[in-house]
Amino acid sequence: MSARILVVDDVAANVKLLEARLSAEYFDVITAMSGVEALALCERAECDIVLLDVMMPDMDGFEVCRRLKSNPVTHHIPVVMVTALDQPSDRVRGLEAGADDFLTKPVSDVALISRVRSLARLKMVTDELRMRALTSKEIGIQSPEREAIADTGRGGRILIVDDRATSYERIASALTVEHTVDVEPNPNEALFHAAEGNYDLVIVSLGLENFDGLRLCSQVRSLERTRNVPILAIAEADNNARLVRGLEIGVNDYLLRPIDKNELLARTRTQVRKKRYTERLRDNVQMSIEMAITDALTGLFNRRYMETHIGTLLEQAAARSKPLTVLVLDIDYFKAVNDTHGHDAGDDVLREFSLRIRKSIRNIDLACRYGGEEFVVVMPETDMAVATMVAERLRRRIATEPFPIQQNTGQLEVTISIGIAALGGPGDSAAALLKRADQALYRAKRDGRNRVVQDAA
Ligand code: GH3
Ligand code: MG
Ligand code: MG
Repeated sequence: MSARILVVDDVAANVKLLEARLSAEYFDVITAMSGVEALALCERAECDIVLLDVMMPDMDGFEVCRRLKSNPVTHHIPVVMVTALDQPSDRVRGLEAGADDFLTKPVSDVALISRVRSLARLKMVTDELRMRALTSKEIGIQSPEREAIADTGRGGRILIVDDRATSYERIASALTVEHTVDVEPNPNEALFHAAEGNYDLVIVSLGLENFDGLRLCSQVRSLERTRNVPILAIAEADNNARLVRGLEIGVNDYLLRPIDKNELLARTRTQVRKKRYTERLRDNVQMSIEMAITDALTGLFNRRYMETHIGTLLEQAAARSKPLTVLVLDIDYFKAVNDTHGHDAGDDVLREFSLRIRKSIRNIDLACRYGGEEFVVVMPETDMAVATMVAERLRRRIATEPFPIQQNTGQLEVTISIGIAALGGPGDSAAALLKRADQALYRAKRDGRNRVVQDAA
């Protein structure tokens, strides 16, 4: 997939020039001649990256950038400022407006293409996460846009990998004002250090004495534990080829020596902010996966998950000739709890019951809320005798300890009935197994409740 780049400049010749160079690299290019036009295009999600001229009448590039970055719909679109100004203070101004990078006119081809490529690659990852996070939003999980916009990018955890004391001391003292900073002067220890530290940014000097800094960058990128940590490379001014290589292997941003302190701070904030944003997106996705398989009231697995997973457990048991048993548990006279003490008290009982189930089973057992007040526990590597012991212990634990209700102001005697069935020989199925356990439960109810009954088979 080729990225779509929006080129914004009030001078038609500049637009044409950038358009031609990007098209030659097979990027899809759209253009705008004013800030207002650019904002509208971005809002309609019509581009992946914005190349933004700074000096424009009406609304200048800084203002356009600020607006893009403070709008939840557009804040994730990478913005590269393109300008004739090349004082560190101008760059800092752009970065503070939220720009992701800076290109100076006349724009060199190498800088242009490598920056755009690297931003496009990063954007693809964010887009994928955003798409899944949008699904989470549909099921009620707060999307992280608001937090991302409010994030100052301060208070990050930063690791500096640099073997020259004069250099890392300067970088560290500049960053310590806003962040927690660790220094690793030994490149051989750096990867381990980065993996252990849960960092928001790793700053790597590419001018290490006896070590290739790019090798370290590539290792950081490929290690599971550090894959998502942004990397900021510090390079000597005269080594363009290495920087391009760096961007190709996944370096997120770079600074040239001599380092401008404010630019260092601004670029660091940007990376920290992005890291936190993608982390929040990832958490969202994780949460929506968890929500899809758990029951909201009790936190146990839901019926759908159990029904998908029980098949696997049965196959494993059959393949290894191991026993497996299923408990179906049902609260006795639960309707009366609701009728007498209210629905909330009923919910309290369901939660407490689930807690006691969890305490009575092992990690490998699968407990789920099967329906209203009916629960199922699948126990691998457990035969009927052991399962009966577990069930009996749980039954007793319920019957002998009253349940707290109404914020601990009241107590309630609760009993449960349990039916047990064990996996039979070839030909047995999850549905048949559950049905036998259910029939045993029915007998437990019929015979007076508050008891454990084994399937006769
Ligand atoms: P038995 O001993 O035969 O199991 O009787 P019972 O009253 O427990 O069973 P019945 O199936 O008649 O009633 C189950 C009740 O569970 C009815 C329903 O209102 C209640 N219930 C189902 N889901 C929930 C829930 O999420 N919260 C609450 N508070 N009650 C629920
Ligand atoms: Mg202009
Ligand atoms: Mg019941």
